[in-house]
Amino acid sequence: MTTPQLHIVVAERLSREAMEKLRAAGRVTVLDSCDEDSLLKAMADCDALLVRTFSQVTREVIEHAPNLKVIGRGGVGLDNIDTLAASEHGVSVVYTPAAATGAVAELTIGLMLSLLRDIPANDAAIRRGEYTQARANAMANELSEMTLGIIGMGRIGQAVGRRCQVGFGMSVIYHDIVDPLALDFPAKFVDKESLYDQADIVSLHVPLTDLTRWLIDKEALSQFKPGALLINTSRGRVVDSLALANRLRNGALGGAALDVLDEEPPANDHPLFGAPRIIFTPHIGAKTPMSQARMNAVVDDVIRVLRGSPPVTSAHIHQ
Ligand code: NAD
Repeated sequence: MTTPQLHIVVAERLSREAMEKLRAAGRVTVLDSCDEDSLLKAMADCDALLVRTFSQVTREVIEHAPNLKVIGRGGVGLDNIDTLAASEHGVSVVYTPAAATGAVAELTIGLMLSLLRDIPANDAAIRRGEYTQARANAMANELSEMTLGIIGMGRIGQAVGRRCQVGFGMSVIYHDIVDPLALDFPAKFVDKESLYDQADIVSLHVPLTDLTRWLIDKEALSQFKPGALLINTSRGRVVDSLALANRLRNGALGGAALDVLDEEPPANDHPLFGAPRIIFTPHIGAKTPMSQARMNAVVDDVIRVLRGSPPVTSAHIHQ
């Protein structure tokens, strides 16, 4: 049923199928840019706002939208949405919390193995004609003799832990501020300091909140086991880039692999670009067709709210 009086603003690209569903539900405006100015201009008569990773839905944006009923976030993290302001203004926030769990877990393990076996550097050395030298220098431990330390044992943390313990025979320790209750694989809860001290590989799977912003700072990094590897597929601002660059430069850390950065896209002079033993991917954790399809399904919940029904996945569970 078409309800043309509803105005739906799409700030970041969605699939054709998702767009068709939205167009059947109301008048749709697709923004050219998702910067704050563009959002503010589009808000006046907006009933529903659809965003992905890069739109910043601030209190100001929400307060510019007197008709706003629902914000749909195709994705997992809600750090780009002021959920408190939304709830104060009676605006539902719906999202797709489990959309990318397997995809991010697989990328995390890919980064872990790439770093451990130096795959990108070996590839580059061969192309430079340094085959013999690269082979002579290669030597790494196996995952089965290593301890994985997971910070944030939620959906993705558990998916990583399970694959690493069951699939690779790693010992798994973890830290979380909430008890994950019954895990279906062996893993031991430890405090943060013990995790830094014992883990050969530290993998971050926390949301970006006031508690986790710059969690891995100079002091935390100084407690890491010598030669430890750091994997971050959560959010860039969980890690202090400058402190990490320094620890990599002075050889205290064995390496880092980052899918996320404090600044995306990063400036050409980003402090981590000059650091050794680091691998980057451009925030591709959720870039699989299956994850994308699940994220696009956020439109179903947005339409549900516009029609007066309760959403399936509202953000209150994260507040
Ligand atoms: P989740 O909510 O299931 O798990 C997060 C866990 O972190 C929870 O168990 C929570 O209690 C814990 N936590 C929160 N604050 C903490 C703290 N201060 N110390 C220790 N633990 C803390 O979320 P998830 O589905 O596992 O996703 C985790 C994060 O991964 C998301 O919030 C998002 O930022 C990121 N993510 C990245 C990509 C990507 O493309 N790289 C894709 C999806 C999600």
